Amino acid sequence: MNIAALRHVVENNPELIEGNVPARGNPAAAIGVAKFLVGNNGNVEALSENQRYHYENYIRPLVENVQCSGVFGPEDEDGNDGCVGNGRIDDEDLDGCYLLDEMLCQECQALQTRMQDD
Ligand SMILES: [Zn+2]
Repeated sequence: MNIAALRHVVENNPELIEGNVPARGNPAAAIGVAKFLVGNNGNVEALSENQRYHYENYIRPLVENVQCSGVFGPEDEDGNDGCVGNGRIDDEDLDGCYLLDEMLCQECQALQTRMQDD
């Protein structure tokens, strides 16, 4: 888990977590768990069973193994997701992605930079 990314989400974009919680769920509890993790440096072991459920389902997808949104937009008819890398953002790059509000892997970021330079 990328704690810097989680902190950024909690402080600036908590609706990303809320958006993962189904209507019958408890978004406030999920955000509470996220804040708790930021405060304890991501120590999942410290979570109760119920808290861990929130973490695994609503928080972890935002801070681990996040999908690259690709430079070429949403899926084309071939089912490609527009990513020129492996489709995933390295965990260590996540905080930068949230800061820039661009969920791109390194390969896609490099390609986008090249395209903008042309
Ligand atoms: Zn990519």
